[in-house]
Amino acid sequence: MEIVVAKEILKANDLIAVANRMKLDEAGVFAVNLLGSPGAGKTTLIEGLAKHLDGRVRIGVIEGDLETAQDSQRIEALGLPAVQINTGGGCHLDANMVSSAIKSLDLDSIDLLFIDNVGNLICTAGFVLGEHHRIVVLSVTEGDDKVTKYPPMFQRADTVVVNKMDLVEFTDFSLDRVRDDERKLNPQTLVHEVSATRGDGLAELADLLVVGRQAWIDSSGA
Ligand code: ZN
Repeated sequence: MEIVVAKEILKANDLIAVANRMKLDEAGVFAVNLLGSPGAGKTTLIEGLAKHLDGRVRIGVIEGDLETAQDSQRIEALGLPAVQINTGGGCHLDANMVSSAIKSLDLDSIDLLFIDNVGNLICTAGFVLGEHHRIVVLSVTEGDDKVTKYPPMFQRADTVVVNKMDLVEFTDFSLDRVRDDERKLNPQTLVHEVSATRGDGLAELADLLVVGRQAWIDSSGA
C-alpha cells in the first residue's frame, strides 16, 4: 500500500514540476537544484559563487529549510532576491512548494535561480522541482563512501561538487574513490572540487554554470 501511495505522490509532484519548468523556460531562468547533507556547505557555496557570477548573470535564490529563515537572510545580505520555504519539519522540497516560491519572485529580473534544498541525501533525490541542473554538494568531512551509500542521489546529479577541499588533508577522504564510484553510477556526471570558504574552484564552477545556461538557451531558443 505504502509504495502505491508514494508513487501517486511522485506522479502528482512531477506534473507540477513540468509546470514549474515551463514557467522558468518562458522567463529564461536557468534553475539549479542544490542537494546535499546538512552542513555540506550549500549556502556557503551560493555565497561564494555569487561573487563570481556578479555582472554576468542575475541570481535569485529559493531557500528550503525546516523552520528558520537564517539562510535566506544570509542571501539577502548579499543583495540578492531570496524566498524562504519553511517545510514545517518536512525533509525535502517538493514541486508544489517551489511553485509557490516562484510566484513571489520577479522572474524577469533573474537569469539563474538556485534552489537550496533541505539538507538530506535521501528523499530529496526523488522530487523533481522543475530544475534544469542538479548539483549534489558532498563535503570531504562526510566521507568518501556516500556515492555508493546513496546511489539515487548521485545517479541523478549533473554535477557533484566536492566541498571543503581545504580540510582534505585532515581526513582519509579519497577523491579518486568518489570519481570512480560516480563514473560507475553515471558517467555523464561532472565531479568538481572546491573550497567554498577559501574560494578554490569557484571561478571554474561559476564558468560551468554560465556556459551551461548559455547552452540551454541556445538549445531551447529561450
Ligand atoms: Zn523527505
